[in-house]
Amino acid sequence: MTSQELLDFLIIGAGPAGLSAADAAASEGLTYLVIEKGTIANTIRQYPVGRTMFSTPNELEMREGSLHPVRDKPTREELLSHYIHFVLDHDLRVTTGEEVTDVKADDTDGFIVQTRCRGFHAEEQENKYRARNVLFAFGAMEHPRRLNIPGEDLAKVHHRFVEPYPYVRKEALVVGGGNSAAEAALFLSEEGARTTMAIWREDWENRDPKAGAMKHWVRSPLEREIAEGRLRVILYKDIDEITPDSVRLTNETGESMTIANDVVFVLIGSDADLTILKKLGVKTAPGKLTEVPIYDRETFETNVEGIYVAGHFTNARHIKAAIDVPRKIVPLIARKLRALATR
Ligand SMILES: Cc1cc2nc3c(=O)[nH]c(=O)nc-3n(C[C@H](O)[C@H](O)[C@H](O)COP(=O)(O)OP(=O)(O)OC[C@H]3O[C@@H](n4cnc5c(N)ncnc54)[C@H](O)[C@@H]3O)c2cc1C
Repeated sequence: MTSQELLDFLIIGAGPAGLSAADAAASEGLTYLVIEKGTIANTIRQYPVGRTMFSTPNELEMREGSLHPVRDKPTREELLSHYIHFVLDHDLRVTTGEEVTDVKADDTDGFIVQTRCRGFHAEEQENKYRARNVLFAFGAMEHPRRLNIPGEDLAKVHHRFVEPYPYVRKEALVVGGGNSAAEAALFLSEEGARTTMAIWREDWENRDPKAGAMKHWVRSPLEREIAEGRLRVILYKDIDEITPDSVRLTNETGESMTIANDVVFVLIGSDADLTILKKLGVKTAPGKLTEVPIYDRETFETNVEGIYVAGHFTNARHIKAAIDVPRKIVPLIARKLRALATR
């Protein structure tokens, strides 16, 4: 779909932030479109199969009282279905399988948004859209962090964890110190993979939830797996090399260890790709965990007028904030557009 129509508002990404923005734009009567390179709520789709969310329904739902999980917190599947049905039930304008590749300032009207889409029939097509305002809600999953060691490109090395079932009775290593790594180690161990978790001591001993400590409902069963001898934890300094049938690492006392291995999960976080934003002239700064765009705290507008940011790659990182911020800023954008129209 190539549009010569000048949209009021173009949204990049159909995660919780993008969908919330679309809903707010529809309520304000704005002409809008969400462009999503994957599927609706693509990041949630990439969570481990059957995973229970950390958050409660009121922090995740698109409308108050609309998410009804079987237990007190929804699973990946329940949440995914909630977001998909939100798009369908409210007939939100979302295109999927279409990636924004560039955004340029247009001398007269705002911005030209360039996309590339891969259809179900595999042919690629390039499109252009015009919009007065653009919201970047493209998350922070673009670049999974790497160890940058020999063997990391072997097929058995993964930077995302989706399911434990292929690894029953296999030698699995999980590298990482946050919740994603801890959950993967737990799921693997519970489903019969011979699992080793390599973690830095400071992460293993971290009990501060504000500093990204493992959630207690992950740590407790993990400790049970360890106590019952199914899961091994190695406090390590460096992972040195991955080979087809082993991993060589240096433990925290400086001893070199070679462990038998069939599959490796490197789960040490991921970063947004800020290239398009920076090319547009948006300034960035070091954030709490990674580089973030600089934006107005009230409007979430960047230093480039008409370019807004929301969601996981800003300082408002969780789903609740990803949903709340667009609800606050889209009415401000609508007000600005109405003021311009009456000039
Ligand atoms: C394993 C895991 C578990 C988590 N558990 C929780 C939890 O329990 N509670 C919680 O609050 N948070 C949790 N989070 C964090 C949560 O997923 C994010 O806060 C949330 O997804 C942020 O929403 P968002 O809309 O900002 O970004 P995302 O959900 O990442 O959405 C961004 C979208 O933009 C799309 N996109 C990216 N680049 C482009 C492009 N160039 N063109 C078009 N589309 C693009 C992506 O495909 C994606 O669909 C978890 C994260 C992970 C990885």
